[in-house]
Amino acid sequence: MKYFIGNWKMFGIPGSIKIIERINNFLSKDKKNNKKYKVIIAPPFTLLSSFNRKFKNKRISLCAQNCSQFDNFGAHTGSVSAYMIKAVGIKHVIIGHSENRASGENDVILRKKLFTAIQNNLNIIFCIGENKTQKRNKLTLQVLKKQIKNVIMKNCNFKNIIIAYEPVWSIGTGKIPKPDELQKTLISIKKFLKSHFRSKNSFKILYGGSVDYKSIHNFKLIKDLDGFLIGGASKSSKKFIDIIKNFYK
Ligand code: PEP
Repeated sequence: MKYFIGNWKMFGIPGSIKIIERINNFLSKDKKNNKKYKVIIAPPFTLLSSFNRKFKNKRISLCAQNCSQFDNFGAHTGSVSAYMIKAVGIKHVIIGHSENRASGENDVILRKKLFTAIQNNLNIIFCIGENKTQKRNKLTLQVLKKQIKNVIMKNCNFKNIIIAYEPVWSIGTGKIPKPDELQKTLISIKKFLKSHFRSKNSFKILYGGSVDYKSIHNFKLIKDLDGFLIGGASKSSKKFIDIIKNFYK
């Protein structure tokens, strides 16, 4: 099963539901392939609850883009807890996106976020990725392993966690890793996960960074890839659908 997860970031108003409706219509008609993949869309918090009511029994699932490090309710202005996300019927949450890491989310905070998301039975898409300087200095694997080790508890069973490998230098830049380079990184991360965690469940890794209808061709032959986290191209139903179409072409 491959995942195509759309991250809208700070985009979307009530009328943007049309984007999800069109994607959902495509999924219903794509009888040839639609059992092979799952689509999850992460609109902003303002739209989550109402969109989720509309797509409750549909093939598309909705996802929160983040959650608070604190659980339940509390005096944390502007924050939304995993408990509140769960309460409106959302089952997925993105944690550790590089844009949020850049604005201050460190490993300590991320560890708390992951913990509260697990406590609330949310499925977690946990983002990791090296920046340009780290890549240039050949620190990629070291950085990725540290981001995983510092945040994910050793006894975690990975039933509800998917790793999204998103090189920071690739997000929104049109630059993507070379397929063989990406394959090597994925194999190394999976090897590390197997040795570090005693999980009975299989480890899933997505790739994210400048995935669009053209670049998707580069990822078709990469084994060890469980799907994609898609930013910019997920804001247009046509662009998003074309990614799926081209992937299975
Ligand atoms: C992202 O923000 O998670 C992302 C992958 O963005 P983009 O596809 O626009 O590079």
